[in-house]
Amino acid sequence: MSLFSFIGCLADKHQPVRRDVDWDGRHYVGTCRHCGAAVRRHGRRDWRRREI
Ligand SMILES: [Zn+2]
Repeated sequence: MSLFSFIGCLADKHQPVRRDVDWDGRHYVGTCRHCGAAVRRHGRRDWRRREI
């Protein structure tokens, strides 16, 4: 975990674990490789924490 990535997570800009990305029928969803949060794809390189 780099400091830069961690700051990204605090700003709700996450990076998914590539092999863990899944399609739930509406969105791409995955797990953040840095903080482990459940994330959803909003756009190219735009992954944000998933609301439960
Ligand atoms: Zn994160």
